[in-house]
Amino acid sequence: MPELPEIQAHAERLSDAFAGTALERFTPLAFTALKTADPPPDAAYGRTLARVGRRGKHLLLDFGVVTFVVHLMQGGRLKPDEKQSAKPRHGQARWRFADGRALLLTEAGSERKAGVWVVDGDLEQQAPLLGLGPDADTVDAALLQPRLTANPGRLHGFLRDQHHVAGLGRLLANEICHRAKLSPFANVAKLDAAEVARLHEAIGACIAEGLAFERGLTEMSKSADRPASVHHRVGEPCPVCGDTIRSVEYVHYTVAYCPTCQTAGKVLADNTTSKFLK
Ligand SMILES: [Zn+2]
Repeated sequence: MPELPEIQAHAERLSDAFAGTALERFTPLAFTALKTADPPPDAAYGRTLARVGRRGKHLLLDFGVVTFVVHLMQGGRLKPDEKQSAKPRHGQARWRFADGRALLLTEAGSERKAGVWVVDGDLEQQAPLLGLGPDADTVDAALLQPRLTANPGRLHGFLRDQHHVAGLGRLLANEICHRAKLSPFANVAKLDAAEVARLHEAIGACIAEGLAFERGLTEMSKSADRPASVHHRVGEPCPVCGDTIRSVEYVHYTVAYCPTCQTAGKVLADNTTSKFLK
């Protein structure tokens, strides 16, 4: 799934290409695509796209009076629509602009989780942004500490929970734990001040690295191509210490870590629940 760096760089690309252009029409191409009924999308017709912003893993197409909030989820993509065919492959929704260009939301696969919300007023007080934690690239150690203390549980899960900090996913959770030299299973409520400082530094560094990589591309990267020391590197040597990267496998994701760097050499096993239940 694209995470904060990929979504941020993509928002910047779309802003550069489409800001200042007026919306002519919005067309849902799949009945599941539009998640809201009010305000109607046509509230934005004739309005100029001010910018494409980002909040967490959401793209924000800001037309002033209303904002289209787009969540790509796993397989969604929002790209310039060169062909504008009547039934585009994997098509979910299309924004057609007054200059004749268009943006197309597609979603590969059968999950149909990507979606569009048309929102006016305070975006933070309504779906889908309601309840999101602060963006991960904005948290400082002072903001992070009370959130950690209030939410005892494993670090890897804390990082992926959008209510705690927004914008991180499976890749960055793995990379941040490794960079901070913390076990992915460390209890966040028990981290000491030095560990919280390392965690904060790691969040910033991993996001900055991802963003620098992503800004050098013309399209959103594939997960396997993104800079990573442990994610997608299970079985390979750790770039820091040379130990073999290990994993704990779940149905929907893999926790990848270096025993020497992160767990004092200990090999992790998930003893709390069956891996088939998570
Ligand atoms: Zn290592």
